[in-house]
Amino acid sequence: MKVIIIGAGIGGLTTAIALQQRGIAYEIYDAAPGNRPVGAGIMLGANAMRVYERLEIAEEIKSVSVLAEYIYIRNCQGTVLQTISNAEVEERYGTGTYGLHRAALQQVLLGHCRQPVHYNKRCASVSENGPCITVHFSDGSKAEGSLVIGADGIRSAVREQCVEKARYRYSGQTCWRAIIPVDLPAAEASVAAETWSVKGGGLRAMFTQVGPQQVYFWMTKAMPAGTVMPPEAALPFIREQLSGYEGYMQAMLHHLRPEYLIQSDLSDIAPLRSWHKGRAVLLGDAAHATTPNVGQGAGLAIEDAWVLVQCLAASGHHEQAFEAYQQRRMARAGKIVRLSRQIGWLTNWKGRLLTGLRDSLMKRMPKRMTDKQLAFFYGVDLDA
Ligand SMILES: Cc1cc2nc3c(=O)[nH]c(=O)nc-3n(C[C@H](O)[C@H](O)[C@H](O)COP(=O)(O)OP(=O)(O)OC[C@H]3O[C@@H](n4cnc5c(N)ncnc54)[C@H](O)[C@@H]3O)c2cc1C
Repeated sequence: MKVIIIGAGIGGLTTAIALQQRGIAYEIYDAAPGNRPVGAGIMLGANAMRVYERLEIAEEIKSVSVLAEYIYIRNCQGTVLQTISNAEVEERYGTGTYGLHRAALQQVLLGHCRQPVHYNKRCASVSENGPCITVHFSDGSKAEGSLVIGADGIRSAVREQCVEKARYRYSGQTCWRAIIPVDLPAAEASVAAETWSVKGGGLRAMFTQVGPQQVYFWMTKAMPAGTVMPPEAALPFIREQLSGYEGYMQAMLHHLRPEYLIQSDLSDIAPLRSWHKGRAVLLGDAAHATTPNVGQGAGLAIEDAWVLVQCLAASGHHEQAFEAYQQRRMARAGKIVRLSRQIGWLTNWKGRLLTGLRDSLMKRMPKRMTDKQLAFFYGVDLDA
């Protein structure tokens, strides 16, 4: 069996490492022009780290990450709405939630792939012929294997070509992200606090240390779809939006520069009927792109990679393996996509009355409910 992986993002690279561990041959292709440091920061939940433990790369990932003591949701006046203690998470799930630069994660993953990533290879179409499946790239070249894994993200060509056309859903919010080259004071460096505006309207922000001289900052705001602001205009806009924020935020904003900013609209896709067809299967954002409100999109892609490879290794027939994988993954991914949409909706509420109600509901949530939710995110059964 030879597997062709389309997409060398977090999902595709994790799949490559999992296939290697099982001795399954693969080739991996990506549309990007080369291996460039991409994106800003990322939080890897305990569920994702548990997969990386099984792939024996967790320690290396931890060595380029920061483990905040506490993860908070609070409002911009400093009221804490939810607290997650990473020590408690570690005690229950054997590992915590780590924050790191996306480029650092990508480097670790690439370092463990024994096969090179073939860059500049954009999947244009896919065709099946008996026991073979062929990926045709936009440069006229092709790759042939027994199976294709579409790990090519929210705009997946593999999905659109072979499986099902997706319906994109804009969340109503755009997001600016940045890595700011500073170190936070000790008290700030030990927390990751997502801070919700009391004005609502999708306004949220966070900064957290993810490495030496690397602070991950993001801000969301309700905007019409496709609103693109040049970074020089975005910076004063961000500063003005966050002017009412207390604590260290103002000092942080002082260090923000237009050239650090990356803007993207936050969207997901409506649930698909199936994640596979014939010899092609989807994973990660290609199968179930989610808004990032519960910080689990990459976590899901990483879990998918582990489960799919387990199913392939256990079954002699690809369709059985794909079906078993889908059975194990679809409901969980659907629930996370839904939860994330609901939180996005909650943060879109406008006006002090509604945000006051929102904050009080969040604050009053009993600890057993938060614990139940964390058990769902982090305690996923990777063998079931
Ligand atoms: C603002 C924001 C913050 C987030 N924060 C978190 C977080 O803290 N924690 C978390 O778990 N998740 C987070 N996520 C979600 C996470 O980034 C994604 O779920 C995750 O990156 C999905 O990985 P993937 O490999 O499926 O897709 P991608 O990372 O999108 O990778 C897809 C790859 O496929 C390639 N590709 C695309 N089209 C083609 C083609 N036609 N042919 C060949 N290659 C192609 C691309 O170049 C890319 O390398 C966040 C998302 C956003 C937008």
